[in-house]
Amino acid sequence: MNGSRQQQLFEVDPEPTPWEQAAESDRLVADIVFDRPLQTVFQYLVPDGLADLISVGARIRAPFGRGNQTETGFCVGLGHHLPPGRRLKEIDLVLDDAPLLTADMLELTRWMAERYLCGWGQVLTAVVPAGVRKRAGTREITCYRAADGASSALEKKRLSTKQRVILETLCQSSAPLPVDELSKAAGCGVSPIRTLRDKGLIVPVRVRTSAVEQDTTALAEQQPDLTLNPDQLRAVEQIQGLLRASKHACVLLHGVTGSGKTEVYIQAIREVVSYGRQAIVLVPEISLTPQTIRRFRRRFPSVAVLHSHLSDAERHAQWERIAKGKVDVVVGARSAVFAPTPHLGLIVIDEEHETSFKQNSTPRYHTREVARERARREGVPLILGSATPTLESLVRATRGGDLLLSLPERVERRPMPPVVIVDTRNDPYITKGQSIGRALQAAMKRALDDGGQVILFLNLRGYSTVLWCYSCGAGVMCPECDVTLTWHRDRNRVVCHSCDFTAPRPSGCLHCGAPALKYLGAGTQRLEQEVQAKFPEHRIARMDSDAMRKRGSHDTVLNAFRNGAIDILLGTQMIAKGLDFPNVTLVGVVDADTVLHQPDLRAAERTFQLIAQVAGRTGRGPKGGRVLVQTMCPDEPVIRSAAKHDYLGFAQRELDQRRELLLPPFWSLARVILRGRAEDVVQADARRLAGLVRDAAESSGASVRIAGPAPAPLLKLKGLYRHHFRLQAEQPEEIQELWRRVSDQMRPSQGVELVIDVDPLDLR
Ligand code: ADP
Ligand code: ZN
Repeated sequence: MNGSRQQQLFEVDPEPTPWEQAAESDRLVADIVFDRPLQTVFQYLVPDGLADLISVGARIRAPFGRGNQTETGFCVGLGHHLPPGRRLKEIDLVLDDAPLLTADMLELTRWMAERYLCGWGQVLTAVVPAGVRKRAGTREITCYRAADGASSALEKKRLSTKQRVILETLCQSSAPLPVDELSKAAGCGVSPIRTLRDKGLIVPVRVRTSAVEQDTTALAEQQPDLTLNPDQLRAVEQIQGLLRASKHACVLLHGVTGSGKTEVYIQAIREVVSYGRQAIVLVPEISLTPQTIRRFRRRFPSVAVLHSHLSDAERHAQWERIAKGKVDVVVGARSAVFAPTPHLGLIVIDEEHETSFKQNSTPRYHTREVARERARREGVPLILGSATPTLESLVRATRGGDLLLSLPERVERRPMPPVVIVDTRNDPYITKGQSIGRALQAAMKRALDDGGQVILFLNLRGYSTVLWCYSCGAGVMCPECDVTLTWHRDRNRVVCHSCDFTAPRPSGCLHCGAPALKYLGAGTQRLEQEVQAKFPEHRIARMDSDAMRKRGSHDTVLNAFRNGAIDILLGTQMIAKGLDFPNVTLVGVVDADTVLHQPDLRAAERTFQLIAQVAGRTGRGPKGGRVLVQTMCPDEPVIRSAAKHDYLGFAQRELDQRRELLLPPFWSLARVILRGRAEDVVQADARRLAGLVRDAAESSGASVRIAGPAPAPLLKLKGLYRHHFRLQAEQPEEIQELWRRVSDQMRPSQGVELVIDVDPLDLR
């Protein structure tokens, strides 16, 4: 391994005596990393008894820190290079008899640790699923194999018929067999097996077997590939060209909603599978629906799905199937980027702009960046697909080395739906506190009268998002966060959407005690009530994470909607993505301003994406469709661009601003957050640490700017006060370099935690 970039520090014992050193000189030394925020690789001696057991990529236990405590670490390298003059401690135990990940994946995790300024051991702990570490769903059983020379015994020795059958069976078997199989083969109990063992003709071995049912998903009926339209064909041919050249490349597939991107992925994967290689398809967790899975299962016989609802045992079983090359296509959310495919041929990220591709705990990686690096290392193409690509991907495809492929039209030349902006500032219904204005209500009536279906989108869950006191003006806040509590009428409780806090609905103001509260801000529950009142003769369903708690409920509602048993579907992000219902002739965006006003460097980008994605849900059938966007900011340029389906116009304007403000995609950002229960300590730490970073940047001449420290806009979250500062540089490597220099000094006080977010999606 390359030790020059990763700093090497060692667990040091007192000076060794000369004879100790001599004895240790030819001993095996293991490089170990622990699940800690350390950029350090530690070295340990491997005792002779463990030398045959340890492997790179396996976990071990070794003494760490003061006292006699041991800690679990990963072995990331083995060699015989003893650091001179140091006496190393010994490893206690080897926990895995085989590596948990391949050498390639190990290198990828090392890259992640450098890229995301965290510990290599932290990355490894996060990347290898718990179920795989525990080998969940497997157990060890005793099997037998024939002893060496057993076949000659078959001729010479006198054996009973049953013993003979057993021995013959084992001589012919390529793998050891369990007792129950042997006794079934010979129609006997265990005694002939014991006798053979005692004679030394068969040998017991411990074998690990899976207790999980083999994948029982019935083979979906296979459907033929569609005939591609000219745009799709061009895209597939270009991708096939890259695949045949078998080299790495990144492709941005910019295709408007309904342009048939999935068919392009499928036919590219077809090529990959024909080489005997595997493809990984990453989709946002929210899109990992039965519909999506079916789409792939109907085209490929062996598809593994990795989603967050798998049990440890199921996940381990899938992991094994993938590692053994039994799977052609892996479909999964974020973490499937680490799927252990033996011969990767292609990675696809659908809806690459989705924020769920960024992990929001350590390691705070972005799936797109990890996929890019993995594809580069394994020499395979990466396809990023979106109707509204991130500006990062757009810039790489227009000015960097990526390939831009466009699907500018919907399949079968269906027109994009007209998008109408409705100014709600003077709307008579909205000013009365309703959510559906006059124009939207009339449009809904017309669409329903014509036999069409309606989708209403609202980005807020619950009933009322703000409870507010008439007399003192205080809102009902979460005691743990700087966030107002939302009243959930169905449970009659107030709930914090940032943490898990919930409480019974207060009957009066918690601040001044006044008895009456005003209910402001409508969520989906209130919208549902309003729609019911306005359209009593129509069938309505609500889809949000509250309504969709039960497994399978998602599928039930969508099937009912598809069959026409539901006329109006309303909900949150859950209904903004991917749905393809030809009879939807109207989509209403109930409040386009919810995202626009968030203190977020990507607020405009999100607003554009949201309107474009929601608009993508209509006009998919012969009846066509249209979109109404309710807003109080009808002149906002981003809303105007979205209404014109003008992605490039929006992007150009936004890019100009980002460049001016030294923001991504032109500049790299890392955000350092200090959080803790005592605000004064947090604040002092933020000052002290930001000062240290600033001094280091100045003394080393690094061209990294340090902005802050300042209180985070969301000062209190989950009971912790947060102060932050920002590192900004033109290249991520500059930030990495500076951080390496200072990371040893970044020691927050007792009770304060330091969080580093590289490429943060927001700065709340
Ligand atoms: P996107 O992902 O770009 O929004 P989809 O892949 O969901 O678009 O495709 C939209 C619809 O068009 C799907 O129902 C799909 O089956 C259909 N479709 C895609 N390509 C073709 C084609 N070449 N011919 C006919 N129908 C197609
Ligand atoms: Zn809270």
